[in-house]
Amino acid sequence: MSSGDDNLVPPTAPLCRACGRHFTCRASLRRHLWIHTGVKPHACHHCPFSCNRRSNLERHVKRHHGPVASEQSPTSHHNNHSSTAAI
Ligand SMILES: [Zn+2]
Ligand SMILES: [Zn+2]
Repeated sequence: MSSGDDNLVPPTAPLCRACGRHFTCRASLRRHLWIHTGVKPHACHHCPFSCNRRSNLERHVKRHHGPVASEQSPTSHHNNHSSTAAI
């Protein structure tokens, strides 16, 4: 028992060769590597915008393209004037 670094990340933890950071799982390392490689896997369907984080893309879509039009929208205050031509 000569090791006193049990609280550190185990040696098998993924390591970023670019900056030396350790990560708890490979998925975290892969996502981190994108900032070094410049890969932006999340591309906007409406414009050439792309980013490396899905949350960023979702925020971009909301801000620049508005909420996605859904046919099953729960809001029903829109068809208020549909029966005015019956008279
Ligand atoms: Zn890195
Ligand atoms: Zn866009």
